[in-house]
Amino acid sequence: MELPKTVVCKLKPTPEESEKLLATLKAFKDACNYISKVAFERKVFNPVALHHMVYRETRQMFKLPANLAIRARDRVAKAYKLRRDTLLQFKALSMDLDERIFRLIYKPERIFASISTLQKRVKPPLDIGEYQRRLLEDAKPTHAVLVYRNNKFFLHITVTKEIPEPKGNNPVGVDVGMKNLLAASNGFKVKGGETLRKRHHFRGLRSSLQAKGTASAKRSLKRLSRRERRWVNTILHQVSRAFVNSLKEGDIVVMEKLTGIRNNAKHRKSQNGDFHSWAFRRLQSFIEYKSLERGVPVVYVEPRNTSITCPRCGHVDKANRKSQSLFRCTKCGFQHNADYVASLNLSRLELAPPGRAPVNEPNAGMNGDFKMNHYDSPASPQASAVGS
Ligand SMILES: [Zn+2]
Repeated sequence: MELPKTVVCKLKPTPEESEKLLATLKAFKDACNYISKVAFERKVFNPVALHHMVYRETRQMFKLPANLAIRARDRVAKAYKLRRDTLLQFKALSMDLDERIFRLIYKPERIFASISTLQKRVKPPLDIGEYQRRLLEDAKPTHAVLVYRNNKFFLHITVTKEIPEPKGNNPVGVDVGMKNLLAASNGFKVKGGETLRKRHHFRGLRSSLQAKGTASAKRSLKRLSRRERRWVNTILHQVSRAFVNSLKEGDIVVMEKLTGIRNNAKHRKSQNGDFHSWAFRRLQSFIEYKSLERGVPVVYVEPRNTSITCPRCGHVDKANRKSQSLFRCTKCGFQHNADYVASLNLSRLELAPPGRAPVNEPNAGMNGDFKMNHYDSPASPQASAVGS
């Protein structure tokens, strides 16, 4: 099985190469805006139909090489798949590269990227570390995105990684949330408080910059949120890595499908709740990726009262959840950490998908004294496997 992976590589072009790359990026952006205008005005969004309207013009007006003209058209067509009610503008200096306009040249001392520009190809070396070098070594990348950011050029190179066929039969439920960033039924747990504290720190800085409202304050604001995202990303990578390291052979990761604000543009900006759902989804995707890399299958299940169901007697009651952190069953008195209970219920959902009898053997808990003698599976839980 193969898994795609993006390797971000800094480029080290000469001043002359930089000029060529920058001119090409600008032409690509202008071409996208031209194509976007044609598409929007004539209401033609199908890539093939659009091609006939803009291909020759794109090449003549912006002097783009053939495949860059095609990539520009594709980028525009793709963007209009999401929304067609407004004229889309392209501002970022980034362009898509395929195998005709980009390839890697492997030399013993360095790896070079050969990239088509408006004039000739440029061949700057990649400025990368050992880790990236190893990822690129036996890869045959066919796709990359060139990005200009903070006066530097980056190549986001897509490579495919060979991974073991996922297999396993021991479900490990993983609950992500505010109190515990991660709580798993194998006993692995990471508190979320630290993340939130740091977040508060950033929020304070941000509101004082917002109050200023000057151009330079706005720039700092942008930088800040990038820094914030990077910081959160690093935490999520560390947490997911540590969790995946805690898995044993034969484990299956079971997570809850997160619902809600996924594609809601209105909520996307600056809402604190939205920040958290973004972070939680990201954490899940990191866990998924790192698990699959190790051949551990990943399954998402529909949320089914996982936080209020008693894992011992099956009693479902909002009152079971005494507080954010405490679960106590109103029927049988079973008591435990609430996030841990949710993760246990998740692992059980995977054990009892529709048509399969519930399995009663206890899962490995974090407390030795915690035993489950009987478990009534919730009615017809929906389980769906997620492939690569
Ligand atoms: Zn109970």
